[in-house]
Amino acid sequence: MTDTDPAPGAAAKTPRKTPAAKTCDGPALIEVRNPGTGAVVGTVPEETADAVAAEVRELRVHQPEWEAIGPGGRKAWLLQFQDWLIDNTDRLATVLQSETAKPRVDALIDPGFAADLIGYYARRAAKFLADDRPSPHSPLARVKRLTTVYRPYPVVGVITPWNFPLAMPVMDVFPALAAGAAVILKPSEVTPLSALELAKGWAETGAPEVFTVVTGAGATGAAVVGNADYIQFTGSTATGRKIAAACVDRMIPYSLELGGKDPAIVLADADLDRAAHGIAFGGMFNSGQVCISVERVYVEAPVYDEFVAKLTADVKALRQGLDGRDAKHEVGALANESQAAIVQRHVDEAVAAGAKVLTGGRRAGFGTAFEPTVLVDVDHTMSCVTEETFGPTLPVMKVADEAEAIRLANDSVYGLSASVWTGDRERGARIARQINAGAVNINDVFANLFSFALPMGGWGLSGVGARWGGANGVRKYCRQQAITVPILPTQHKELFWYPYSMPKLLFALGAMRAAGARGLRRLDLRALWKLKGGDT
Ligand code: ADP
Repeated sequence: MTDTDPAPGAAAKTPRKTPAAKTCDGPALIEVRNPGTGAVVGTVPEETADAVAAEVRELRVHQPEWEAIGPGGRKAWLLQFQDWLIDNTDRLATVLQSETAKPRVDALIDPGFAADLIGYYARRAAKFLADDRPSPHSPLARVKRLTTVYRPYPVVGVITPWNFPLAMPVMDVFPALAAGAAVILKPSEVTPLSALELAKGWAETGAPEVFTVVTGAGATGAAVVGNADYIQFTGSTATGRKIAAACVDRMIPYSLELGGKDPAIVLADADLDRAAHGIAFGGMFNSGQVCISVERVYVEAPVYDEFVAKLTADVKALRQGLDGRDAKHEVGALANESQAAIVQRHVDEAVAAGAKVLTGGRRAGFGTAFEPTVLVDVDHTMSCVTEETFGPTLPVMKVADEAEAIRLANDSVYGLSASVWTGDRERGARIARQINAGAVNINDVFANLFSFALPMGGWGLSGVGARWGGANGVRKYCRQQAITVPILPTQHKELFWYPYSMPKLLFALGAMRAAGARGLRRLDLRALWKLKGGDT
């Protein structure tokens, strides 16, 4: 049984079966802790593979009706859920804080972002899923009406990490629901409480039973992969690789958003104040636990000292601590001890190899928190520059020029996103096209994340496929179906049907060449006649 704080002011409608109401007689329990205080804030069941299979079977019962009501019918339910999210923002932020120790402002961003995204896909899905009526590739194909239909995978499995316990599930669950799929969500075992709130909310609105949450760790996630028809995964590259292999085994499609080591390039013509403020935010937001956080900085030599001074001042000024309902801090704790250990290792290894810590560099003195850190005198032999840190560190390197910055930015196994800071926007856009990453923001960080019309996906070891990107965001959850309907009255037989006849074939080939070949080949009857074979 889930054991979160009671929801102040939450609607007390009689819920249908929800994950939060499951008994915990059978499965083992997972304790959920506030990483800032260490306090246990809830327990959730570790769902077995059989339980997951049963949930998926149940979703399959309800999905056809969900698909049948069409995007218009689904829009009504999705917008009702958006209302619920907005009405329950305060409570949701509190649950979110309890399992993450995020600052209050950060906790309030998740539900706001979620409501924005749901509104977009609820309202646009009808347009995005409308049948395509492609023009035939050749005049000969004009005898059929051609239609491409988008029909959802019945059950989409969404597996999410712990860094944005509410926004991260919403990012993929609701586009999939808008597409007409049913969704089984497996949130991180570190932060499952917010996801359970989503399931409760869905049930409270009385929406069809096409969305369920199962809690547990890797084995539960593996069971989702073993039963769903499409997998959308966000998490580490190591786990993504295992999931891809499991999906290949079942011959089901998948989309993976994995690790990142996002570079920021600061050019000598940049507004250095904006660059410092933006990179401080991009590196420290959510204690750096963002797949698209700035993880390394390359600065052109003429402005290096000035930029480093500004960045260090900005990072030093950050207030770190535990917020209650009052917003007093910018930076909170890390998700768990193993995350803190990675950050400490990256800093220690860098220092041992000659790097300098300009601010931070150690634990902050409460829970798992680590101080916002700026490192200089670093290079590409150090783990803080090559491995994903997923923590509050900004290693800064001096580069001779734009070409060196691009070369070093591309010297990574990852390719999620990047930023370029320059006074010349055209130069920035030109550099963007030379960077191997799924997104490049000029004079900003994360901007692509707030533009659902753009795809969000990683290159290299940062992922396979992408989420969003307007219509692709729902079409990815659909199978394409080609439908042909005759336009002209039909005869008893088509030209190509049995029995075979060489004259009929030559006629058809001649027509195809006339319609699609070049120059004399279009009308070369002699060449055609030679195909006839025989003695003539
Ligand atoms: P992290 O350890 O940073 O949370 P992971 O990539 O290990 O990153 O986990 C992301 C999500 O994947 C979590 O919900 C986790 O429970 C789930 N998971 C872990 N291993 C597997 C697996 N083998 N199959 C499916 N899901 C898994």
